[in-house]
Amino acid sequence: MQFNAPTTRVTDKWLFALTVVFVVALLVLFTSSELKQPKQYFWPAVQVLDNHQHEDALNAVLSAPESAWYEETNPLNAGLSDEPVWIRFRLPVTQIDQQTAYIDIGYPLLDSIDVWTQYGNKTVHSYSGDALPFNQREHKYHGFLFPLEDYPGAVNVVMRVQSSSVVKVPVKIWQQQAFWEHVNNTNLVMGLFFGLLLAMALSNLFFFFTTRTLTFIFYTGYVICLGLTLATLHGFAYKYLWPEQPWFQAKAISLFASTTLIFAVVFSASLLEISNHSKRLANIFNGLAGAFGVIAASALFLDYAVSIRIFLVLLTITVFLIMGVALWLARKKVSVAGYYALAWGALLVSAFTASLDNLDIVNVSIPSQYLLVYGAAIEVLMLAFILAISYSRQRDFMLSAKEEALEKEREAVRAKQALIDLQQSTQDELEYKVGERTLELEIALRELSEANRELEKLNTIDPLTGIRNRRHFDKRLQAEGRRSRREQTPLALAMVDIDHFKSVNDQHGHSVGDACIKHVACILQDQLKRLSDDVCRYGGEEFGLILPNTDTAGAEQLLETMRAGIEAKPCEFDGKSISLTISAGVASGVIAYGDEEASLLKTADERLYQAKQAGRNRVVAKQ
Ligand code: GH3
Ligand code: MG
Ligand code: MG
Repeated sequence: MQFNAPTTRVTDKWLFALTVVFVVALLVLFTSSELKQPKQYFWPAVQVLDNHQHEDALNAVLSAPESAWYEETNPLNAGLSDEPVWIRFRLPVTQIDQQTAYIDIGYPLLDSIDVWTQYGNKTVHSYSGDALPFNQREHKYHGFLFPLEDYPGAVNVVMRVQSSSVVKVPVKIWQQQAFWEHVNNTNLVMGLFFGLLLAMALSNLFFFFTTRTLTFIFYTGYVICLGLTLATLHGFAYKYLWPEQPWFQAKAISLFASTTLIFAVVFSASLLEISNHSKRLANIFNGLAGAFGVIAASALFLDYAVSIRIFLVLLTITVFLIMGVALWLARKKVSVAGYYALAWGALLVSAFTASLDNLDIVNVSIPSQYLLVYGAAIEVLMLAFILAISYSRQRDFMLSAKEEALEKEREAVRAKQALIDLQQSTQDELEYKVGERTLELEIALRELSEANRELEKLNTIDPLTGIRNRRHFDKRLQAEGRRSRREQTPLALAMVDIDHFKSVNDQHGHSVGDACIKHVACILQDQLKRLSDDVCRYGGEEFGLILPNTDTAGAEQLLETMRAGIEAKPCEFDGKSISLTISAGVASGVIAYGDEEASLLKTADERLYQAKQAGRNRVVAKQ
């Protein structure tokens, strides 16, 4: 797969902007209907009893001097104090429009509220607060509601409010019908808001199941805890989730706010991959998550006033840290960090505006309790969007990395193939060269063996006469002996010796003697009739003849011809004519046993001796 077609894709920036515009438009649409309505409530002017003089009893309060009461802003914020706060106000008859009215206290975390309403001489006491199980409330309203009876005159109201958390007392007077319409509207907006949170939480939970990426589950945790915190803050959680557990209601805010922050911290660290940028920052994030964990755990038994203070300090640090890190990473061009800072910014701005509005520093037309909810809705959607971008980028990156790895592998395979080819061609070349060398070697060997044969032949030739020498005679004798025995053919042998050769040497010198030996050898060779016949120089002026398949008579005849030939033809050398004669002994027979040819030769030699004895120049072939 290829990912290099950005022209066909809508860029992340545009998608992000589109999401934001869409969300804001939706929220504006929802609130506009409420804003268009005429104000059907009013804020009565309230007076608070001086802290130093109030008593914890109604009578004492009522008898307090006028000077002990002082004007306060409504909504009243008495801060973190668990001492009772006494409030009074007067409702002139005209302001209620002759209709049945409600006193609405829109801060659902107050522990206990006592209300005394004076209709002339009659005083009615009502009690509420979240220390009371929700189910015991007269009106199932997420805030606190005290109905006013029909009364033609002005009504005086005295209230005693006590809470371990922040004492905020927004007192509104409503016409009853308008009030319930308002509650319906609020319920719709808040229902949509919690529905949105639930949808985001569930879809990201499923993303976690399919991708096993931890960031998704951190986000789900964050959204659920944020939802629970806001539901508690708005009184919906007490109404719907734990209406019988006032003890849990007292701890819920610090518990869920802390767990929200745990998830916010781990989600930020995971999404922005902080450990890749700074190990120290990653440690700080882990430390913060741990600290919020400790607060969450201790929230169940620690005093609310204490845990909320620690929480608020840590919250401030965390919010600025996360914003700072997101901006820092955005400057480092880390892809999603800019969007992330924007998302946190949305929540921060809305929380900040809501606080300013609450403190009456600025006056925003959107009801302040919605501001935080809107901020959270925008943030949650933006974060989900960022998470989706980040995940898709990571997946693209992973896919391209995989593709790269595949390409590298293919390259490696190609390189390996090239190596194998090279090896093959080298081997072929080597084999060819070896073949060539082997051929050369064979030729050399053949030449060598030919040379050897030549040498061997030369070795068997007598250099003086050019006929075979004694070495050849011995070998031939042995071979012909075997053949005679095998084929049962007669083998004839003759020994020839030049007569009185010593005197030739003595009279004419050795060179003449040599010429005479050559002359005799030549005549002997010339007289041979058969190819198989062989004459060899046996030594000195002696010759040996091997005549295979020849009987004594035939051999005697041949030798006689030779003797006559030599006698008839003197040796001519250096202007001299030297007459020569030879004596010969002949023996023939069929070889019957191994080495019999040796004794046959001995017989021939003995007969040569006899020829000498008998006067030389003759052939002896018989006993
Ligand atoms: P006989 O008739 O009894 O054979 O008498 P002979 O003189 O030939 O006696 P013998 O065979 O004992 O002598 C051989 C002589 O031949 C001895 C040596 O001087 C001579 N002789 C042997 N070989 C050669 C050779 O190669 N060249 C020459 N010039 N003389 C040789
Ligand atoms: Mg001799
Ligand atoms: Mg001799």
